[in-house]
Order: sequence, then structure tokens, then C-alpha cells
Amino acid sequence: MPTPRPAPAPGPRRPGTRHLLAAALCAQFALLALAPAHAELRVEQVRALPPLPASYEQEPSLDARLAWLQQRLAQTQDPAERYRTLRLRFDEYFLAYRLSEAAPLCRQNPPLREDFVYRERCLLATLQSEDEQVPALLALATEARTLGKPAAAAEVLSGLAWRQSQAGDIAGAFENFEAALSLVPAENVQLLSDLMMDTAASYIVNGDEAYIRKGIALLANAREQMERALNDPADRSDKDMLRDAILLSEFNRGIAYVLHLGDYTRALEHFDRVNAEPSAYRASALSFAALAAAELGEHERARRYVARATREPAGDFSPTVQQYLSCYRDLAQRHWQPGHSLASCLNLKPDTTTEVQLDVYKRLSRSEDPAIALAGLRGLKTLFLDKLEPQLRRRGSQAASKAELARLQRESELKSVVLRQQAELQRERDATHTQRQQFFIALSLLLGAVLLLIGLQWRAKKKLAEQFEHLSLVDSLTQLGNRRYLEQHIGRELAHLQRARRSNPAASLGLYVFDVDHFKSINDRHGHGVGDKVLVTLSRRVQAITRETDLLVRWGGEEFLLLARLDCPERCAQIAARLLQAVNGTPFAVGAAEPIPVTCTIGAVRLPFIEAADAPAWTNLVALADLALYEGKARGRNRWVLVNNQALRDAEGLAQALQRPLQQSVAEGLVELSTG
Ligand code: GH3
Ligand code: MG
Ligand code: MG
Repeated sequence: MPTPRPAPAPGPRRPGTRHLLAAALCAQFALLALAPAHAELRVEQVRALPPLPASYEQEPSLDARLAWLQQRLAQTQDPAERYRTLRLRFDEYFLAYRLSEAAPLCRQNPPLREDFVYRERCLLATLQSEDEQVPALLALATEARTLGKPAAAAEVLSGLAWRQSQAGDIAGAFENFEAALSLVPAENVQLLSDLMMDTAASYIVNGDEAYIRKGIALLANAREQMERALNDPADRSDKDMLRDAILLSEFNRGIAYVLHLGDYTRALEHFDRVNAEPSAYRASALSFAALAAAELGEHERARRYVARATREPAGDFSPTVQQYLSCYRDLAQRHWQPGHSLASCLNLKPDTTTEVQLDVYKRLSRSEDPAIALAGLRGLKTLFLDKLEPQLRRRGSQAASKAELARLQRESELKSVVLRQQAELQRERDATHTQRQQFFIALSLLLGAVLLLIGLQWRAKKKLAEQFEHLSLVDSLTQLGNRRYLEQHIGRELAHLQRARRSNPAASLGLYVFDVDHFKSINDRHGHGVGDKVLVTLSRRVQAITRETDLLVRWGGEEFLLLARLDCPERCAQIAARLLQAVNGTPFAVGAAEPIPVTCTIGAVRLPFIEAADAPAWTNLVALADLALYEGKARGRNRWVLVNNQALRDAEGLAQALQRPLQQSVAEGLVELSTG
């Protein structure tokens, strides 16, 4: 996606262990060299300097701007002015991607400690590989946070995330985008919307359809925020930048629809908003709009876009961008001029974004002209080998868990299948026309599969993990939580109880264990299927009388556990009675000849059971409720038995009582039972 950010700094990579030491030394050297040296100078002094003359700001020629800075330097001895001028000279080289000329300036004019933008850029100019840049940028963000500059920290993190997403480290990118979003102060609308737009771009470029749509929604959201800030007289953001960013959000949505969703009608709506006023994005928007209109069969409209696009000044576009924009116009023109040359598309520059290359080559490979289709497939193959495969590998080295390794193994098997088949097919390629066609189909299918894999990987992994988590916590028959679910959630309930008791000392929790009476005979008489239905119906009935905050789980077989929040002690017996009534009140119509009368027996305790520093483990309270349940069964079933504490003073005492029959503890006056 064409974006407002500079692409990752060019420079040789340093893979392999041999270079690790070199990388560490280099990073250290760079950090030392960038340590603040102007002990007496402060950032505020530099910020307080009078603004630069408009003649400099508006000078289009880089050489002329550099000459002006040089002259200024010769004229001034003021440390703040010299700092700013040298820093500007650095920026000029840095923003023109002339890093080898930019880097020495960082040593000559080291950044002030709080000048985070300059420090970030110096790190990028000085450190060549991403392996060195990532830790250095993270350290810089941490320092900014520690110095109480969350906005600066957010900016550094979002820049880092952007680079990671460009380099294929999608998980790392999302993590840092999120970290950045959490840091940015809410009133900083400009930074917030920039970040939202970058996050959205990353979703759109790297995600599957669901993520692309999420990205589009994020862009719409960013636009709304910016619009609000624009119309708010109290807001102090730079209005021109906001207007520009609004257009960018429209442009990027257009791109998402054209390149990723193939929804040309929607794309045109967004591009037309960009085309309505002059901006840096209009030349691009017009070219993409031409393609969208042509794809919709609106040739006249497409022609007008092409004509306007060619009249539009190219602005700051690099040759790379100019090249692919003219390719898109040529693709459009081919719709009404079948012989129109696509040479521009066959010569995309190697630094064209993956997104555009992928799109262009896919379009070419669908051409009816075999030579063009072949060129498209060749492009796809090169892209796969040069870019996507290294990205997959890179992600491989980040994998940690066993499951991840197994998945990667499968992935690499698929890759080797792709490569093997590709090699075989290539050998036979020229043999016959049919063979050639088979090659095309097989190659595109396999490439498609791998690309799909990349796209869906992130989402699928997450979904799968969620599904597993869900399955392991939910009982498949009743859809209630299971024992593990209770184990996971009871901590939260106990913590809530403690909090609630601070404002209402009468607050407590009722713990009820209940078991269907003579369930075996229901199974025996009506069959297991009917028994199952009884359990499901019973779950629904009990659910209907509990509250959202109550925890109801299937404890095992025909035994259930309910944990209910109580506002006063009396409520405990009331709920037990209501529970009993929910089961025995109406016979169960579950497909047997007659509705089946069902009863259950309930054992209950009220928490906190012992008010002591060492509260008993909750599992021991379940065991106590279980004893009460069996007492209820012994007393003839279809009733509830609540254990009230009389003289148990600590967890140890309870543990001992659990070893003895409940009746003995009653006789010793340790507990007392109420029943109904
Ligand atoms: P009591 O009143 O003492 O609890 O008698 P009971 O018959 O209910 O108790 P028992 O433990 O003897 O039998 C429980 C029966 O519940 C045995 C088991 O086959 C049945 N059961 C456990 N889980 C399920 C299930 O998921 N579906 C069905 N249909 N039956 C189940
Ligand atoms: Mg039973
Ligand atoms: Mg049972």
C-alpha cells in the first residue's frame, strides 16, 4: 500500500551467527556515539527558536535546501541554532534515503536526550539490520516512557511496528501497535489517528478478509475522530495535517477495496473523495480509480480518470511508484484497447511493495495472452522465492511452542512440494501447449495455497486456540461449564466476595452441590437418550432461576454445582428451596410416554464458612457440601441440607471434620444442619 512512511531503511542484512558479535559491537558503538553530548543545551531552547523562513520550507530542490543550511551554519555560533541546523541537514539526507550521508551527522551532532524523533532516526540511520534496530528502538521507547513522554514512546513503537509489518513480522507488529495505542494520550488526536491508520494498514496488508474489514472500519473510525478534531475550535492539532490524513484514510480504504477485496464500486466511492481536491494522493487515486472503473466496465469514466491522472503532477513520487501507477493505468486501458502494451507492468521495480506486486502479477497471470500470463506467473514465483518464503522462514525462527513447530514443519513440507513440483513442471514446460497450461494451473494453485496459508495463518491460529479453550471448558451435553471452568473462575468469585463484604458485611456466596435422585432408574426405565434429555432440561431450568453472575457447572454425571452471590444469609436457604422447586415442581416432558417426575437432593454451605486468616480451600468446602448432599440422600432425598458452622475455627479443624461422618460433627457441636 502506498503509505506516508519511509520504507524500512535499506542496507545489508547480517544473518548468521558469525555476525552476531559484529552486530552487538556495532549496536553498542552506536548507542555510545549517540549519548547526549551537549550538556548545557536543552530541548526547550531548540524548540523556542524562531521558525524557519518559508523560503527554506518551500524550496523544492534538495541541493538548494542543503546549501541554505550550510550557509546558515557558517553564520551562527548559537549552540541551539547550530544544533537545529545540523539536525535539519540530517533530516534532509535521512528523508531522501541517503543514509550513508545522514549517519555521520549523528556523530557530529549527537541528539539531545529528549529529542526522541532525532534519536529514533539516528538509530535507523546508524544501525543497518533489523536485528539491531528492534532492540534499540524498544529501549528508546522504554526510556521515553520512563522520562514521562508517553507520546514519544508511542511514536517510536508505532514506527517499529510499521517496520516489523513491512518485514513480515506480523505478530511483532501487532504487539507493538497495540502497545503504542495503549500509550498515546487521548487528547493527541493526530498521533492517535496516525496510529489507527498504520494499524489498519497492517491489518489490510497482512490479514484475511475479516481483518481487512476490521482495518477498513478502523480507518473509518480514524476519519471520524479527525473530522471531530477538525471541527472543534478548541482542538490544537495541525488542521492541514488532519485534512491530509483524512484524505489518506479515504485513499487507503479505496486501496483496500481495489487490491484486497475486489469491490470496485466501494473503491470508487473512496477514490472520488480523494479526487475531489488536490493532495499528494490524488495522482495515485486517479490511477487506481481508472482500473476500478475499467473493471466495472465503465470505460468512458475510466478514460477520464486516466486523462486526469496523466495531467496530475507526479509530485514526490519515486520512480518505483510512478512505474506501478502507470502499470495500473495500462491495465485499465487494456479493457478497451486489447492490444495496449503492458510493458510498464512487466518492469516493476524490485522495491515495489509486496502488496502491489502480488496484485499486478495476479492480474497479469489471468490474462488471455499466454506471454503475459507467463510473465505474471514468473513474477509471482520470484516474489514467492525472494520475499514471501524468507518471511515464512523468519516467522519460523520466532516460533516457540511445540505446536508451532509442528505446524511449521507441515508448512515447510508444503513448500518443498511447491518447489519440487515447480522444478518438475518447469522442465516439461516447453514440451506441449497442454503441459504448459497444466503448469500454469498447478503453479498458481500451489502458490495460491501458500499465499492463503500466509494470510490465514495469523487468524486461524487464534481461532483454533479459542476453540480449544472453549471445548476444554464446556460440557458438550448441557453446554454448561465443566469442572475446569469452575477452577478457572472461582478465584474471581472469591475475590469479588472479599470486595463486596467491604461495603456489605452480610454478603456471602452460596455453594450448592446437587445430584439427581435415582437417576439410574430413569436411564433403566426410559433409556439413556431420555436420561440425557433430563440432564439438559434440568440444566435449562436451573439456569432460568440463576443470575448472570452465578456460576453453574456440570460437576460430573448427574451432579451439578452452583455458586450464587448472596446479599444476606437468609437468601442461602431460599435459593436452595427455589432450586429444589425448579426440579421437582413440574415433571419432565422429554419424549417418554408420560412426563417423568424428577427430584434432586442438595447439599450446601455458605462462604465465608470460617472467618480466619487461613481460609479453608474451596475444594474442602465442596467436600463438605457433598457430605451434606449424602446426608440429604440418607434422609429420604428430594430436599436440601445446609451446613452451618458452629465451632470450626480454622482450615485444619474443617479438614479433620471432613474425615468423619457429618452426624458426628453435629453431635460434637462443631456444625449444625438446617434442611427443608
Ligand atoms: P441417587 O439418588 O443415590 O443419586 O441414585 P442414582 O441412581 O441417581 O445414582 P447412581 O450414582 O447409582 O447412578 C447415576 C447414574 O447416572 C449412573 C450413570 O449411568 C448415569 N449417568 C451419568 N452420566 C450420565 C449421562 O451423561 N447421561 C445419562 N443418560 N446418564 C448418565
Ligand atoms: Mg443421583
Ligand atoms: Mg451421583
